[in-house]
Amino acid sequence: MKVIKIFKETISDGFGFRYSIYFSGCNHHCEGCHNQETWKGDIGRILDKEYMDEIVGDINSNYMLDGITLSGGDPFFNPVELLEFLKEIKARTHKNIWSYTGYTYEILLEDSTMKKCLDYIDVLVDGKFQKADYHPDLYFRGSSNQRLIDVKKSLKNNQIITLEF
Ligand code: SF4
Repeated sequence: MKVIKIFKETISDGFGFRYSIYFSGCNHHCEGCHNQETWKGDIGRILDKEYMDEIVGDINSNYMLDGITLSGGDPFFNPVELLEFLKEIKARTHKNIWSYTGYTYEILLEDSTMKKCLDYIDVLVDGKFQKADYHPDLYFRGSSNQRLIDVKKSLKNNQIITLEF
């Protein structure tokens, strides 16, 4: 798993001050994607133990942070490694986690590893970017087909529940 860039404090990727990690690799190839250099998954810094310790140290030393956001690329490009990352980051920071993905929530439920990843995610912004549905005024997403899903409530109620705000 490779990380392309990190924003240590941003208000663009979810509620509050967030630590945003952009992962390398994406299979969705949406028309109009602004991050095509991320698709192959071959750019960025390898997320090894040393880098993980740096990230955890950054997060735990910033008391202003409200949470962590995973973006890319698509964080679910490497689901096995994503699951290990999620387990560790949650255990070591206890922050709420938002994740972007080009997959829909329904597709993630069909894959056992991707489904397990959802146990560690609080909000999922799902679906491919659709140029025809692009709207500049949307909060935290590029096109109106993408949903801001409350993952905990959705899993518990066995139906998709989106954030209301
Ligand atoms: S999911 Fe995101 S990164 Fe991947 S192709 Fe679509 S817009 Fe680009």
